[in-house]
Order: sequence, then C-alpha cells, then structure tokens
Amino acid sequence: MFCYQCEQTKDGKGCTTFGVCGKDPATAVLQDHLLHVTKGVSMYARRARAFGARDPKIDRFVIEALFTTVTNVNFDPERLLGVIDRAVQVRDAARVLYSDAARARGKEPDVLGGPATWTPASSLGALLAQEPESSFAARRAEVGDDAAGLQALLLFGLKGAAAYADHALILGKEDEGVWAYFHEALDFLASNPTDVKALTDACLRCGAVNYRVMQLLDDANTSAYGMPSPTSVRVTPVAGKAILVSGHDFKDLYRLLQQTEGKGINVYTHGEMLPAHGYPKLRAFRHLVGNYGGAWQDQQKEFDAFPGAVLMTTNCIQKPRDGYKGRIFTTGLVAWPGVRHVADGEFSAVIQAALDAEGFAADAAKKTITVGFGRRAVLDAAGAVIDAVKAGKIRHFFLIGGCDGAKPGRNYYTDLAKAVPQDCLILTLACGKYRFNKLDFGTVAGLPRLLDVGQCNDAYSAIEIAKALAGAFNTDVNSLPLSLILSWYEQKAVVILLTLLSLGIKNIRIGPSLPAFVTPPVLDVLVKAFGLTPISTPEKDLEAILG
Ligand code: SF4
Ligand code: SF4
Repeated sequence: MFCYQCEQTKDGKGCTTFGVCGKDPATAVLQDHLLHVTKGVSMYARRARAFGARDPKIDRFVIEALFTTVTNVNFDPERLLGVIDRAVQVRDAARVLYSDAARARGKEPDVLGGPATWTPASSLGALLAQEPESSFAARRAEVGDDAAGLQALLLFGLKGAAAYADHALILGKEDEGVWAYFHEALDFLASNPTDVKALTDACLRCGAVNYRVMQLLDDANTSAYGMPSPTSVRVTPVAGKAILVSGHDFKDLYRLLQQTEGKGINVYTHGEMLPAHGYPKLRAFRHLVGNYGGAWQDQQKEFDAFPGAVLMTTNCIQKPRDGYKGRIFTTGLVAWPGVRHVADGEFSAVIQAALDAEGFAADAAKKTITVGFGRRAVLDAAGAVIDAVKAGKIRHFFLIGGCDGAKPGRNYYTDLAKAVPQDCLILTLACGKYRFNKLDFGTVAGLPRLLDVGQCNDAYSAIEIAKALAGAFNTDVNSLPLSLILSWYEQKAVVILLTLLSLGIKNIRIGPSLPAFVTPPVLDVLVKAFGLTPISTPEKDLEAILG
C-alpha cells in the first residue's frame, strides 16, 4: 500500500505497511482501485455530457465513490469490494450513455482506454496483485513526485468537495455545473497529466468549484434547519438513556431525533455535530440535550465512557474498542468491519441499543458553551463590529480552525488562541475548535471574543463574513485586519485551502505540518503566489501578524 492523503501519514511521508489511521493494506489497495474505475466512469460521463446526455445515478455514484475513500470513512474491504463491482456496472452504463448519445448525433464514439477499460480481477488476492495498476506509488515512479503530488492535491481536493456535495445532495441541493466539473476533473486526472502549470490551475479550479459546493451546502442546511443563531449548549451529561451522534450529517441527526421523540432517550452531539445546536429546527427537539466529548481523535476513550449507543454518520471513525463495539453503529458511507451498519435512516437498532445500555445515572454539574455564530449572526452584529474596529477597540480578527488530529504539535492552536490579545476577536470552525472552545475568552466591545462559526464547510460562512467586512471597510479581504491560521488533517481541509487560494486569499498559515504530497517546488509556487506559510510558534506568529 501507499497512502499519503492525510496529515498523520507515517513519518510525514506515506503509510506503506499499515495506515496510521487503522487502514489495512487491502483496504488501501481497494480504495485506489475504486478511484481508478471511477475515473473511467467520468471519462464516459464527461463525453456523454458533451452530447447532452447525463444520468443522475452516475453523477451521484462518482461523488459517493470519492467520499468513500476520504480518511476515516470506510475501513471495510468487504464493503469496498461491493462498491468496486458497482463502479464497473456504473462505468458500463456511462459507456452506453456516451455511445448512444454520440450515435444519436451521428458521431462514432471515441474508443477509450486506461481507467475506462481497466478490469478489476474477480478475487481479492488477484485484486491485491493488481496494486501497481492504480497506486500512487506507481504514479510517482512514472511521472515524478511533483506531478504526482499535484495530481494527488487535485484528487484529494475532489474528495473533500465530493463530501460536501454529497451532504448538499442529501438535503436536495445540487448544481449541474458541479456535476459536470467532477467528471471533467476526473477525466483530466485519467489522462495522467504532468504539466505543473496545468495541474496547479486545475487545483485552483477545484477550489473555486468547491466554493459553489459549500454555498449549496450552506443553502441546504439553512433551508432545512433554519439560520444558525447563538445558542447555549450544555457540555455535561444529564441523567437518562443516551445516544451520541458523531460525524457531519445533520439529516441523520434530524431523523434520529424524530425517531427518539417521546422514548425517554437523550441525544448528544459529538465532534462535528456540535454546530447542530445552532440550527433552530434541530435544537427545537428538547431531547437534544447537549454535546459530549471533544474531537474525533478522543473518541475511543469517550465512546468507551459513554453509557449509551453511538451513531457515526460520516468521518471520522477510529477502530472501535471492544468496550463499545457492540453499541456503536455506522450509517451512510461509513464502515468498519464487524460494526453494525444501519441504512435508509431507520435507527430502531440504535434506539434499542440505547435502551439496553445503562444511561447516565445522574446529572453532572452544568457547564455550557455558545455556538451558532454563522454568517447571519455575525453580520447582524456587523455594525457594532465595524464601529469597534474604527474606534480601535477591536484590533485584529483571527480565524483559528480546521481539522483536529492526534499527532503532537496541535497544542499550537490552543496556545495561539490563549495568547491572542484581549482586543482581538477569534472566529473558529471545524473540530479543531475543541482545542480551546471550552476556555473562557471573555468579551471584546460587547461581543464574545470566541465566535464558533460551525462545521468545516462553514468556511463558506467565514468567507462571507470576511467579504462583508471588506465591503464595509471599502477594501479587499487581504487588506482586512484578519489572519487565517488553519489546521488540516484530511481531504475536506485540503479543498477548503484550495477554495481560499482560488479566492485570492493570501498569507494563510497552515499546520501542524505540511502535506506530504506537496513537494518543495510546488510549495515554492504556493508561497510565492499566495504567501502560504507553515505555522511556527504562537509567539513568533503573533509577532509577525500583529507587529
Ligand atoms: S488516510 Fe492517512 S493515516 Fe490513513 S493510510 Fe492514508 S495517509 Fe495513512
Ligand atoms: S473536521 Fe475533518 S478531522 Fe474533524 S471530524 Fe470533520 S473530517 Fe474529521
């Protein structure tokens, strides 16, 4: 196996014998094969579109296949074998769609090769022997580290965008331009491109399209559940039976809340579900009682201690301990061998497991935090914010957020947030917030100094806030007293970075380490064009930012 798609990759270079995340070699190889066949799907789907033919089932399959291979989503080789079979069927359907559409216009379809015709073997052993035919390691050997790294940057960006597109689609929001783009980009990758400029441009285009995807998801979430508003959330348990919901899929949470109503079960959010409390239609359920635990990398300890059922709606799942393996469930695209999977939003097995578990015996001392500072809430206060900046009461804005992770060095973000001066305001989002979101930052100019904007996809909200502030100050985002200090871990963070770069946002600081797939020459391009900077120490970075 060879995988270097996430921040915790072995030795900062690549996992080659077993994933640090727990991904076994067979799963890694099958994921690469799945991506290879999926490129073949898009080769046909893109050409079919040129003749006006599309099939929503094909479009949907492509984003699900990409999302399936995101870090900490699907660790189950059995499930992946089924998805590869399905990929071949979808590719056949895409080929027929293309051929028929071309012939209907009096054209003979192109005869395609590579991923369009690659045939996965029928047994697991033979599939594993086919590893070099779709692996990153082979691609690096063939096209060199820079081009392979840029291909990886684009592919990982597509994975992140696919995750967001999938969430939006689940809530009924989609855009033909986005579907067409996924096929265009995968078709481009299928051609095994090596031109650094073309690849860099393609990565920025991926970021630009993801801006639209995040807009769709923002629209999906706010249409379905209302505009987030500041809300106090309990972060300590209350007595009673309990279900903990983790991941990012609000629709799963909503359906679970409906199905648990009146059953005497309290529902808690975990990880990236925390922002759910900000949405009026989700917090309207009185048995959504609070948030439990922290970021994904603490789940083994936290789920072990949680006396109820656990539902993983998306990433990030870790290897379940025996202590809770019988009461954790996956749904959607998430899979772990031996963990019960529930499909189609039917959660009776989860509910029964919660009723069978002990539940919390007593209320813990009440503690709360505030979430829900989406774009509407912040922009409602824009007048006060602008006045405070003009009066010198707010000196600078920091956006400190992104993914969290298990590797040492991430205390940088805690230390930085703590060290931000009192006359500065901190925006945060994604699970990186758990590094500091239970600390008391007080207020500045009558506003909380820490504003939780939401999930990682709420980077869209943060961008809208920055654009509105820039408009109010009659300047551009890069001229605002605003610094972005991002933590990355997996592929959603990759595409958010590409989105920010595609918008021309400069001088972003990123850590805790740089992606293994970004080679020094490519980093040089990003540094020169965008001022992208690796984090150093909180003291040095604050001095450089504030002077
Ligand atoms: S997802 Fe990350 S930790 Fe897992 S195998 Fe890939 S690089 Fe390694
Ligand atoms: S923000 Fe990233 S690291 Fe955090 S739970 Fe979501 S996918 Fe995982």
